[in-house]
Amino acid sequence: MTIVGGGLAGTEAALVLSGMNRRVTLFEMRPECRTGAHRTGNLGELVCSNSLKSMDPETAHGLLKEELLQMGSPVLSAALSARIPGGGALVVDRDRFASELTDRVQNDPNITLVRERVDRIPPDRPLVLATGPLTHPLLTETLLEQIGSDRLSFYDAISPVVETDSLDLSELFRGNRHGTPGEGDYLNVPLDEPAYRAFCADLLTGERVPPHEGVEDRPEVLRAFEACQPIESLAESGPDTLAFGPMRPVGLVDPWTGRSPFAVVQLRAENREETAFNLVGFQTKLRYSEQDRIFRKLPGFAHVQFLRFGSLHRNTFLDAPRVLGADLALKKLPKVYPTGQMVGVEGYTESIALGHLTALFLSSDSPDSLPPPTTAVGALLRALIPSAYRRPDDAPALGETAPFSPVNLHFGLFPPLPARVKGGKSERRRVLVARARRDFEGWWESVAGSGHAADRRARPAGG
Ligand SMILES: Cc1cc2nc3c(=O)[nH]c(=O)nc-3n(C[C@H](O)[C@H](O)[C@H](O)COP(=O)(O)OP(=O)(O)OC[C@H]3O[C@@H](n4cnc5c(N)ncnc54)[C@H](O)[C@@H]3O)c2cc1C
Repeated sequence: MTIVGGGLAGTEAALVLSGMNRRVTLFEMRPECRTGAHRTGNLGELVCSNSLKSMDPETAHGLLKEELLQMGSPVLSAALSARIPGGGALVVDRDRFASELTDRVQNDPNITLVRERVDRIPPDRPLVLATGPLTHPLLTETLLEQIGSDRLSFYDAISPVVETDSLDLSELFRGNRHGTPGEGDYLNVPLDEPAYRAFCADLLTGERVPPHEGVEDRPEVLRAFEACQPIESLAESGPDTLAFGPMRPVGLVDPWTGRSPFAVVQLRAENREETAFNLVGFQTKLRYSEQDRIFRKLPGFAHVQFLRFGSLHRNTFLDAPRVLGADLALKKLPKVYPTGQMVGVEGYTESIALGHLTALFLSSDSPDSLPPPTTAVGALLRALIPSAYRRPDDAPALGETAPFSPVNLHFGLFPPLPARVKGGKSERRRVLVARARRDFEGWWESVAGSGHAADRRARPAGG
């Protein structure tokens, strides 16, 4: 088996496959060829923060880690060995973490590490492509030729996502722009002119994240960003730009005034159950704390819970719902498995999870049964391959009909609980986590029964 890319996902996949006694050739272009963000030649290098986020299993990220540890994730166990104090988060000594992973791979008799850049899709099958958000442009070009230019993106424009239960819906109204008949798919936050001006003033003064040196300050990336400007840059370009752009109220009537509001923030559902909504067109480079401070001032947002914050950054990723089959291979290139961030997840732990799942799927003669969508790994997978989770008489999921943007794990991706679960938010979360644990155990037992876990017991992951 061949894996291209020795980052978090590629290293996880290589070590998992080796744990199943499969032979792997792993290509990594560093240190000869640089990405702009990585600084060393180590495998599994963390390019920015040294935190893998929360360990608390009552959070979505903590739950994902709990599942990955049960699955025997070698990269996560390396993170635990390199852990340094960081409160409830899994914070690591980045050099120790990456050096340990590099040593494990180099000393693994099943893995051959080749320090070479791969410029064309190799003929080897199965083939894993784990080249990440900063995939070398030559390889990207050949991928574009093979799958079509409309199926691969070079940057990531993410709007904030909020939990529906945390909104005061009495201050919002339903309606579609241009007065489309029906109740309306969007929730609208109406703003009068003074409120709009105050909101723009906040956007203009809000502190922004500086570009990642060597990555987002390159001319070709800046050109790509021009096509998709953050809201604060739009606000900068003129006092009414937002009111004529993402906040235009055209065709909407505020039920409380009977008139068109001066501007609106539109919220679009993230899933059919409408447990989460995104702020349409609100990609932003504002710091997370500033997004929290500024958006919380919007009507109905006083107690808002953000499931994810907005961002805009360089990222190479595929349109997963349209290009991936249920076995996680490319529909157009059977037995070629993109994984990690390039498949459309965001974040260190999510990328590790995808690397692990890809290794499981490709090593199975008949693909493993999909993890239930109620588990953390299943919720992540369902966001990438929604059609594989759809029952025959279900309508297509939103991910199949709306444009795809990369996913990081949050509770909004999990199927909602039945309405009869009473209690406050913490009680509902407790039940959701209990359901995830129960369903994960059932699924993992069936995977173990198919032989993978037996192989891995014989050769402990990473050992
Ligand atoms: C600037 C930046 C900052 C980020 N900050 C954070 C953060 O703070 N927290 C967070 O959770 N996530 C962050 N991310 C996202 C992060 O990159 C991913 O979460 C994670 O590293 C992706 O893992 P991966 O294995 O898919 O890709 P990577 O870890 O990037 O690994 C891909 C590997 O493929 C190699 N490669 C690329 N092209 C080729 C080729 N043609 N031939 C051979 N090898 C190749 C690269 O050298 C690299 O080692 C950031 C991303 C970027 C770009």
